[in-house]
Amino acid sequence: MAPTPDILPISPVARLPQKPAEQEAAIQAVLDGAAFAGGRGWVPATSGNFSARIDADGIAITATGTDKARLTRDDIITVSLSDPAHPRASAEAPLHVDLYRAFPEIGAIYHVHSPAATLLSLVDAPKGAVRIQGFELQKALAGVKTHEVALDIPIFANSQDMAVLGPQVLARLGGAPAIPGYLLAGHGLYAWGRTPAEALEVLLGFEFERRRLQP
Ligand SMILES: [Zn+2]
Repeated sequence: MAPTPDILPISPVARLPQKPAEQEAAIQAVLDGAAFAGGRGWVPATSGNFSARIDADGIAITATGTDKARLTRDDIITVSLSDPAHPRASAEAPLHVDLYRAFPEIGAIYHVHSPAATLLSLVDAPKGAVRIQGFELQKALAGVKTHEVALDIPIFANSQDMAVLGPQVLARLGGAPAIPGYLLAGHGLYAWGRTPAEALEVLLGFEFERRRLQP
C-alpha cells in the first residue's frame, strides 16, 4: 500500500494585488519604518513589527522571525483584514489587525521594543499610564496643538494571548483614541498614524519624551 502522502505545506497566502501601486507603497513604508527603528536600536534581535495599510481590507506587515534592522521585501507579507491567517504571520500580528479593523483612518502601525519604552512601561505600570506633559514634541501627535496639555499613554499588562490582549486594548482605547499609541508593560510600544510619515513622527515623539522622562 502506498504511504499516505504528506500534507503539503500551506503556501504563503498571496493577496491578489488589486492595487499594485498601493501595495508597493505599503511595502516600502514597512521597510522604511523598520530601517528607521532598526538604526536606533529599537528592535533588538527579531523583535518589533511594522505594518502599513494597502486598502480597506489589506495590510503589508513584517513576517515572524525576521531581523527588522535588515529587512528585505521577502520578509514582508500581505494579509487580508477579514481573513488574516497567514503561515508567516507574527504572533503579534493580531494586535495590528485589531487596530486597522477598529480605526479605518489608521494608515501605519509601528511596534518597537526600545529599552526606554520597556523600562518606563514597567516603572509606570502600577499607574496604568505614562503621563507626558511639557514637551514640544507632543505636537508630533495628531490633534495636539500645545506642549501644555497632559497626555496619558495607556499601559497594558503584557500577555502572550493576543485573543485576550487585543480586546482589552480596544476596550480601553474606546471609539476615538486620545493618543495614537500604547505600551505593553516590560515589552514595548505600539504607535500609529494616518500615514506612515505620521506614524514615524509619533514614534519619534514618544521615544524622545520617554528618554527625557527616564529615571
Ligand atoms: Zn513585541
